[in-house]
Amino acid sequence: MSRWIKNPRGVQAKHLIHLLTQMALTSYFDMSRTIETRCCIAGGGPAGVMLGYLLARAGVDVVILEKHADFFRDFRGDTIHPSTLEVIYELGLIDEFLKLPHQEIREFAGQIGDELIPLADLTHLPTHCKFLGFMPQWDFLDFFSAQGQRYPGFHLMMEAEVVDLIIEDNRVAGVKAATPTGEIEVRATLTVGCDGRSSTVRERAGLQIQSLGAPIDVLWFRVSRKPADPDQVLGRFAPAKILVMLNRDDYWQCAFVIRKGAFSEIKQRGLEAFRDDIKSVAPFLDDRVQEITDWEQIKLLTVLVDRLRKWYRPGLLCIGDAAHAMSPIGGVGINLAIQDAVATANILARPLSENYVSLSHLQKVQLRRELPTKATQWGQVQVQERILSAVLGSQQQVRPPWFLRLFKKFPVLRRIPARLIGVGVRPEHVRTPEILSADYTD
Ligand SMILES: Cc1cc2nc3c(=O)[nH]c(=O)nc-3n(C[C@H](O)[C@H](O)[C@H](O)COP(=O)(O)OP(=O)(O)OC[C@H]3O[C@@H](n4cnc5c(N)ncnc54)[C@H](O)[C@@H]3O)c2cc1C
Repeated sequence: MSRWIKNPRGVQAKHLIHLLTQMALTSYFDMSRTIETRCCIAGGGPAGVMLGYLLARAGVDVVILEKHADFFRDFRGDTIHPSTLEVIYELGLIDEFLKLPHQEIREFAGQIGDELIPLADLTHLPTHCKFLGFMPQWDFLDFFSAQGQRYPGFHLMMEAEVVDLIIEDNRVAGVKAATPTGEIEVRATLTVGCDGRSSTVRERAGLQIQSLGAPIDVLWFRVSRKPADPDQVLGRFAPAKILVMLNRDDYWQCAFVIRKGAFSEIKQRGLEAFRDDIKSVAPFLDDRVQEITDWEQIKLLTVLVDRLRKWYRPGLLCIGDAAHAMSPIGGVGINLAIQDAVATANILARPLSENYVSLSHLQKVQLRRELPTKATQWGQVQVQERILSAVLGSQQQVRPPWFLRLFKKFPVLRRIPARLIGVGVRPEHVRTPEILSADYTD
């Protein structure tokens, strides 16, 4: 039997109805090996779940196929940007959303060598929430998939891996997906690839990828956190070392940035040397690095930066990382994926409800989202090449560049990175209506 969402930390009461509905619907999908829908979304990450939610909210029938059995995977980013919070505010869900456990960061700083540099001040942003939220991504995805259950057109199918496209007369007519009970076909007016940077959809569609390269990878691990630990420092720069630390209340989610391909060399030096590296860049972890006892606790996350030349072909569109894989720099990839979803719903909800999506509709989505994508990736590539590579390749004492010193003297300058990271280029606003009737698309 195919699985619908499981909450890995136990079923909370608020999710019970949602789970029961999904279990009841499971038998429908199991019995019929072919499903017809208006929009088939491959991938239940931030882009897929938000797009599915917005379209179902606008009365469009959607089927989201997610290959995993749950959202509980540790290597997802955790940042909820002010512009994403603004979208949640526009949807009327912000109060409920902010009841979920999270941290709010209004200012952040970088420890560059011996100097603490204030880098961004979000308190002046033109948004309702003037902070960056940190929330485990599985909570964010659980929240929106539970909210989606309010709409009859929202169908989320877990353990359903898209393995191929159905192509008829050169038009994508849907997908084939592997489930625990065998293969199913989902036929749709539009298929949207939201299946991340290793997208099967974009590969099967033969869409051309332009790689922008990435000289870094990330080692992802956690150590426990103490209340007295410093909390507003996100990045720590020392000779040949960069450590990013995300506050998850009782532990630090750490991202240790390394030169691309250097993990095997680090492993050869041994765990003790690795622990010393961590201590040298964050001395206050001295008493906790011993918690790292095995390489199994450390995940290698490979960084890619690329984008599609064309995001669409007849019957198919890619958004989020499937259209443009983002570097972790600035922690903006989730936000961009969500902004893509909002723009896609704004442009396509009406054509989908009328069951006619033309190439020019799809082109409109790319035209709308290409500028923010290119601008953000340009910024990420500059930081990767000019700052991170320089720090990782040098044993010299790290010193902040002159322009960052100005941030100390002139607090107003901290609003610039706050704006770029917190809101980004061309923020999207929800333009789709809420339609509760079940037969809007009939
Ligand atoms: C090391 C690292 C750290 C990062 N940290 C951050 C951060 O802190 N903040 C931030 O904003 N961004 C961060 N990013 C970038 C961010 O993770 C992505 O930009 C963002 O997740 C893109 O969202 P998405 O929905 O497009 O794709 P994804 O989040 O990759 O979601 C794709 C979904 O599709 C599913 N899927 C894949 N293949 C299939 C298939 N064939 N069939 C069905 N389902 C499938 C996957 O299981 C997944 O659920 C980081 C990136 C890296 C590499």
